[in-house]
Amino acid sequence: MHFDIFTLFPAMFQGPFTESILKRAQERDLLSIALHNIRDATTDKHHVVDDYPYGGGAGMVMKPDPIFSAIEAVHQGGPIIYLTPQGKLFNQQMAREFAQEPRLTLLCGHYEGIDERVCQHLVTHEVSIGDYVLTGGELAAMILVDAVSRLTPGVLTEGSADDESHSHNLLEYPQYTRPPEFRGWRIPDILLSGHHENIARWRRKESIRRTRDRRPDLYARLDLSSKADRKLLKELADEERALKSEDAEDA
Ligand code: SAM
Repeated sequence: MHFDIFTLFPAMFQGPFTESILKRAQERDLLSIALHNIRDATTDKHHVVDDYPYGGGAGMVMKPDPIFSAIEAVHQGGPIIYLTPQGKLFNQQMAREFAQEPRLTLLCGHYEGIDERVCQHLVTHEVSIGDYVLTGGELAAMILVDAVSRLTPGVLTEGSADDESHSHNLLEYPQYTRPPEFRGWRIPDILLSGHHENIARWRRKESIRRTRDRRPDLYARLDLSSKADRKLLKELADEERALKSEDAEDA
């Protein structure tokens, strides 16, 4: 997987790309990331990358010519993604689709954004990381690279991305590690049982419970029509009924 990232501030990427899993993936040649400074593609004496917006208004707009020149000098195919609050909302499904590509080109805007002709005639995808406005596309690009890279085969331990939150419209079940008792709080006994089938069932039930309670939007899209899931739903309903009647008795 190769990323070409076009930015005015390449130094911002130090840290996220030079630590932990992304660092190791690059050392193992599973991942390569090239940072390109858009300013290097300017041809004028003062290396100007922005200008006033036509029609007036606050802020500056990134000029089209350095962006076209910088990307065209390097691009060897694949999506050209502009990070923008006006783009399609990034999610795990999109990360999975991008992870199928051998190379991705990312364009980070700054100031008031980029000249619209870049979006119309060069960019192939516009992606937003959320409904808020950042000062630049760099943090958004880091997030996209991180989410996509960890889905690239070999970057994570085999299988560790399979059951994660958002992989099947479900949030992940609660996770525990040692010690089994901490400050008097015990982990669920089933996790110590060594019974893999029962543990898988418990995890599925807790995933369903969490998704229903925390993300009704995802829950509405879940297919829980299998016999096994219907049984889990009934258990959840029974448990809640029992809890309610306990509460009523206590009151
Ligand atoms: N004037 C633009 C608008 O209202 O749509 C916002 C420009 S923003 C201050 C500067 C740059 O930050 C954008 O060009 C984009 O690259 C990046 N950016 C800001 N918010 C973002 C978001 N939610 N997702 C992805 N990129 C974002």
